[in-house]
This record gives sequence, structure tokens and C-alpha cells, in this order.
Amino acid sequence: MDLHDSPQEAEFRAEVRSWLDANAPKHLLPALQSASFGKSAFKGDDVLRHSRDWQAKKFDAGWACLHWPKKYGGREASPIQRIIWNQEEGPYRGLSGLFIIGHGMAAPTLMAYASEDHKRKLLPPMARGDQIWCQLFSEPGAGSDLAGIRTRSVRDGDEWVINGQKIWTSGAQHSDYAIIVTRSDFDLPKHKGLTYFWIDMHSPGIEVRPIKQVSGDSQFNEVFFTNLRVPDSQRLGEVGSGWQVSLTTLMNERQAIGTSMAGGFGEILDYAQQAQTADGTPAIKDAAVRHQLADFYVQSSGLKYTAFRSISAISQGRDPGPENSIGKVVTGQMLQEIASLGLELQDQGGLLIGEGEAAYEAKFQFMLLRSLGVRIEGGTDEILKNIIAERVLGLPGDIRVDRDVSFKDIPGAR
Ligand SMILES: Cc1cc2nc3c(=O)[nH]c(=O)nc-3n(C[C@H](O)[C@H](O)[C@H](O)COP(=O)(O)OP(=O)(O)OC[C@H]3O[C@@H](n4cnc5c(N)ncnc54)[C@H](O)[C@@H]3O)c2cc1C
Repeated sequence: MDLHDSPQEAEFRAEVRSWLDANAPKHLLPALQSASFGKSAFKGDDVLRHSRDWQAKKFDAGWACLHWPKKYGGREASPIQRIIWNQEEGPYRGLSGLFIIGHGMAAPTLMAYASEDHKRKLLPPMARGDQIWCQLFSEPGAGSDLAGIRTRSVRDGDEWVINGQKIWTSGAQHSDYAIIVTRSDFDLPKHKGLTYFWIDMHSPGIEVRPIKQVSGDSQFNEVFFTNLRVPDSQRLGEVGSGWQVSLTTLMNERQAIGTSMAGGFGEILDYAQQAQTADGTPAIKDAAVRHQLADFYVQSSGLKYTAFRSISAISQGRDPGPENSIGKVVTGQMLQEIASLGLELQDQGGLLIGEGEAAYEAKFQFMLLRSLGVRIEGGTDEILKNIIAERVLGLPGDIRVDRDVSFKDIPGAR
């Protein structure tokens, strides 16, 4: 693969640079540059305001959701053009976090399964950031084992009535719409009785309760449904084929999460040049620190080239495949190790977390707290390793004793 721009790509890059130079919110740069993985640039309503303003500006000029069809608000850009855009957008990509679930997971699922009318109604405002989406999959008893969900949907004429509870729903408190998987048949085996919908989060019968996280933020929520009524026209896929529809979402989720994560290498390299070890040696000159930096560099490079390999596959018209799972497995662990080294270099100061007190604007403190979640969200390390073992390496499958049993006969299922 030739990593240099072709003449057409160079021309596209110049066009992107010139638009960004004239339009990017440069006054937000200091805040965006002080953010890091797990540490937001803005607090409270400012996140929503700045993210929405930037998304709308991009959309109005034709620079939002570049690879989408034009009729839904995209630009029909090639995968390579999308990468060029991401490279050039740089720190301003920090304003896209609220839209990842909509753009990266709900949109591909809607494009594959929603009616044309619904696509035209829902996708352009989603692309513009006017409407935010969340993903209602996990439940208290069903995360890795998503097919074990118990939120019940019952058909009532042209509508469905939904009752139950979801948990860990990122961004539900800001969301206008959601994608949801429910159990419509408790008699069938667990993968066969599921039905998938999109829903309006402002409907009666939905209660969102934020969860307080270890970092002090509340980015995810519990969501309760009491007799929520959903028109049948909002069903995605056939009744009972919610598992297949969910796989479309999950495959795109791993791609969206894996490619959106900052690796942390830039921060630790920068900090190692400022910090000193306990005996006063500049950290960057310490052999043990250098050894770890080299290791992080090798892993980051591996991630970069693995991403290029997957981009190259996409540019040849192939789907994001199971081999993408490796990116998140490596990134999650590396972020934790980078944060730990950053804190170790701060010695006892590493215990501080207040932004005014902690060294390096508390970036490694927040990175450590957030990196735990990376190893869980969108598939835990163990689940992703199972996928790699079974679907990439062709090893024998995990033992799944409840696969063909009626869901109602699985202990604790009801
Ligand atoms: C930051 C963050 C954001 C999230 N956002 C959302 C969201 O927006 N929407 C949503 O629906 N969900 C969301 N989730 C939930 C996430 O999808 C689940 O937490 C995840 O799938 C794991 O499920 P669980 O928490 O129930 O853990 P469990 O599935 O109970 O797993 C517990 C442990 O058992 C291990 N384990 C489970 N099964 C196996 C197996 N077969 N083989 C080996 N080990 C196994 C796991 O690896 C883990 O270590 C989010 C989670 C996080 C951390």
C-alpha cells in the first residue's frame, strides 16, 4: 500500500485544509488540546453547544458524515478521502464524541434496515448533530451475552408495547432517538426471539437515570421502560431477526470505537520529556522509561498499520471484518499501561486528581479511570479474544450450552 497522497488525494487534502483554516473554531483549540483520553475539553452544556455548532457548520458546508450518500446528508466520499478529512480535522475531532453512536452505529443499521421515508427523515438531522442517538442493548443480566436480554416487546395491533430495563446507555440523557433490541418471543431459543426497533427517546414510558462514575462524570445511564408504545413501522428487520440486525450494529460499533480512540503515546512521550525520575534524572533519559516508551511506540505503530490494512480492505469494497477486534484489545491495555507510567513518574503526586493540583493537567489520572471502560465497552477483552480465536484463527468454539434451549427454560431468564 502506497501511503503517499495521489495527485487527486493531495488536491482533496488542500481543499479540506483551506476550508478548515477558514471555518474551524480556533478559539476552542486551547481547551481541545488540554483534553486527553477520558478528560473532556468542556463541561456541562458547553459540550453539547460546541459539538452541535461544529457539526452543523460542517454539515451545512458538506463536510459531515463524508462517506454517506448525498441524499442522507453525506458527500459520497471515498474511504481514503474520509481518512484525509479525519487527519486534517485533528483536534476538532474531539467535538464528535456525542455523535459516535448515531453516526457509527445507528446510521449503518438504519441504512440497512429502515424504510426509505424513515432514512430521509432521520439521517440528515443526525448527520447535522441536531439529533443525538443512543444504543439500548445492555441490561443488568445481559452484556457480553447480549442474546440473553429480557426487555419484553409485545405486539398490540400496529404497535408494540415495551417493558423492561437497559443499563450503561451512553448519552441517553442527551438523546432524542435510540436503537433498541428486545425479546418478542420467550419460547424460542435466545438468539431467535429478538426484535429490533428505533425509538423516540421523548416518548411517554421512558425514564432515564444517570449513573455516577468513578471520574465524577455521568456519561452513562439506566433506562427504564413502562408500557412504551412503538409503531410497528419503527421495527428494523423481521420479527424475531433482531439478533442479525444487532450484529450489523456491533460490527460497526467495534469499527467506530476502535478507530476513534486516541492511543495516548503522544502524551506519554511529551510528559517523559518534562518529568524527572525519583533521583532527578530526566525521565526520557532513564533506561526503564525508554524501554516502555519503545514498547508503546511499537504497539501504536502496529495499531496504525492494522487500521490502514482495514481501511485498505474497506476501500476495496469489503466489510469491516472480525480482525478489527484486535485494535480495541491492544488499545485498551496500552492506554492503561501508559496512564500507569504517567502516574508512576508523578510519584506520590499521582494520587492527586484536581486539575489545578495534579501534574500534566491530570491527563493520566483521567486516562487511567477511563481506560478501564475501554476494556469492557463494545465487547470485553475476553469476548474479543474469543472472536479472534474462533473467527480469525479458526480455533474450536466456546461451549454454549443454552444456545438451542427455549429462552424461558434457561434458569433465571424470565
Ligand atoms: C464506557 C462504557 C460505555 C458503554 N456504553 C453502552 C451503551 O451505550 N449501550 C449499551 O447497550 N451498553 C453500553 N455499555 C455496556 C457494555 O456493552 C457491557 O458492559 C459489556 O458488553 C459487558 O457486559 P457486562 O458489563 O454485562 O459484563 P459481563 O458480560 O457480565 O462480563 C463480566 C466478565 O465476564 C467475562 N465473560 C463474559 N462472558 C464470557 C465468555 N463467554 N468467555 C470469557 N469471559 C466472559 C467478561 O469478559 C467480563 O470480564 C457500555 C460499557 C462501558 C464500560
